[in-house]
Amino acid sequence: MRILVTNDDGINAHGLRLLEQIARTLTDDVWVVAPETNQSGAGHSLTLRRPLRWRKISERHMAVDGTPTDAVLLAIQKLIPPPKPDLVLSGINHGANLAEDVTYSGTIAAAMEAALFGIPAIALSQVARDRHKIKWATSERWAPDLLRRLTRLDWPEDVLLNINFPDVPAKKVKGVKITRQGKKKLGDHLVERVDPRGEPYIWIGLLKETRPPEPGTDLAAVAEGWISVTPIHLDMTHRPLFRQLATVLGLAERAEAS
Ligand code: MN
Repeated sequence: MRILVTNDDGINAHGLRLLEQIARTLTDDVWVVAPETNQSGAGHSLTLRRPLRWRKISERHMAVDGTPTDAVLLAIQKLIPPPKPDLVLSGINHGANLAEDVTYSGTIAAAMEAALFGIPAIALSQVARDRHKIKWATSERWAPDLLRRLTRLDWPEDVLLNINFPDVPAKKVKGVKITRQGKKKLGDHLVERVDPRGEPYIWIGLLKETRPPEPGTDLAAVAEGWISVTPIHLDMTHRPLFRQLATVLGLAERAEAS
């Protein structure tokens, strides 16, 4: 099995090194291609208006001066000689990727890019209230067995898995829960200040969750000390709305067929 390891926190991130170690418990054929700099929040963006450069650190370690999507695209198409990877692991992210984080996350976007190529992909994140005291031992202890089980999965098309390890010591983890994507409450996280030259600026801060998360969600699972595993589908079509859309658009019944 050939594994590509990538992330959005950049080539020097601790979580990337840890994920590489974990990947090595599954196979000897591990490649690391990651962004040169921290790309958290880059989502599924591509660099289109400038050339992409890469830096070869060793035979199987490369840094790409672009987004996580750029890194995976270049890795799969150009930088890794054939055969293509059998599995792409993205992370381990420094902090959670829960609920609508999924749409902003570079960690998840890297897995999305792999899924677009038909390669099984898993995004891994270590939830951390304090980003300076991340409980890496928790993902280190639980990820190898979890990944080994997941490699047995008959992987469906256009699907990736989003895994979040809870912010509790390894021994306190209750186990694994299969969850759905939750929803936080947006708003009240923009910090508005004045810079040293007297110009106002706005800095996007962190969302503080105030209401209890809905049961069954990724948010609820990690809050209770479970590892959250959410299958994410790239086809974001909302099928239940087909019928009602057809009605208001005067298209009668056969909306899905046409
Ligand atoms: Mn990140």
